Amino acid sequence: MLIGIIGGGQLARMLAQEGQSLGARFSFLVEPNEDSAPVEGLGEIVVHNAEWDNRTIFEKLGEPQVITTEREAVDTDLLQALSEFCRVAPDHHAVSVMKNRTNEKQFIESLNIPTAKFAIATTKQQVIDGAAKVGLPLIVKSSENGYDGKNQWRIKTDQELKDFIESYSDLEVIMEQWINFQTEVSMVATRSLNGKMAYYALTENVHQNGILLTSVAPATQWQKKFEQTAQSYMKTIMEKLNYVGTMAMECFIAGDDLLINELAPRVHNSGHWTLTGTECSQFKNHLLAIMGVTLGNTQAKAPTAMLNLLGKEFTEDKLPDSSTSLNWYNKKVKPGRKVGHINILHQDPEQVTQTLAELKNKVYLDD
Ligand code: ATP
Ligand code: MG
Repeated sequence: MLIGIIGGGQLARMLAQEGQSLGARFSFLVEPNEDSAPVEGLGEIVVHNAEWDNRTIFEKLGEPQVITTEREAVDTDLLQALSEFCRVAPDHHAVSVMKNRTNEKQFIESLNIPTAKFAIATTKQQVIDGAAKVGLPLIVKSSENGYDGKNQWRIKTDQELKDFIESYSDLEVIMEQWINFQTEVSMVATRSLNGKMAYYALTENVHQNGILLTSVAPATQWQKKFEQTAQSYMKTIMEKLNYVGTMAMECFIAGDDLLINELAPRVHNSGHWTLTGTECSQFKNHLLAIMGVTLGNTQAKAPTAMLNLLGKEFTEDKLPDSSTSLNWYNKKVKPGRKVGHINILHQDPEQVTQTLAELKNKVYLDD
């Protein structure tokens, strides 16, 4: 089966790598300014030409049986148009809900699922009113084009609010209550074409400057209290959207509450541990779902962790032992850029924690 992927980054790369064992072939639609090195050698790379009509795009991709996306910042009209030629999963509606924070927040609220208090603003006056409604401290996020902590402003003081209001002009934003969370967790799940759900273990995440740094799974400390709730949120959301494929949900744990921070209509960085930590990774299950095949086993094999390589070169010879493995994305190293990750898998959870701490020091302190 030929699968067309929109995007040519590391998520597309890992999807294609995981698809080899399923006998799937791939083509990639990339933008002219996009670095497609991660998917080199994994299938046809098609550089999007703005003059092409939808049929031409479909033909250039080799007339795939299914089209999917590695990112939410995608033209949802194009997704809709392509669905006339083949299955597109997840579909344009699911992606349009999650690519825009305003849509996403309103969607979560409409399902009565807890999320941080928020206000939507598109004018200066609405920013002023929104701040009064939400209260300080707060965080402002642009409705679209935000990832890895980009296009976000953290506002703690009246002065910072004043400065923000002064500099603000006509950007659609959401203003969100600042949550003093105990920790951040996420869940990745896959829904099949016939509506079967497969959940991965609740995962605990640490971010640095808004970018994911480490994930540990299963999040044993929080599983008992929150895993079922997380699963029920995922089920409600995915059923409502008739979602097909893998999606991710990032949450805050605050007291007794599990609040959704954001959703992603795609495989997710906090699910990279599944490549070594489960029989069937988030990538493989995404492909099985969109191909219309029975989903695989998502059970965690053992305690596992993932360390992101953010702007840091790393080679296999630096790995401490066989409990660790390197996944390098074939990208040029630039400051802060996600260029690879290391997974750790060990029967002893303390060993996982210790190896993670050692590797973190090695990557980030040994310069
Ligand atoms: P991603 O790359 O995960 O898509 P993003 O740039 O879209 O990230 P968020 O996930 O919304 O942005 O925010 C990044 C991080 O900033 C969160 O993981 C969290 O650590 C922090 N953060 C975001 N919103 C809040 C909030 N309301 N209260 C406290 N911290 C927050
Ligand atoms: Mg996030």
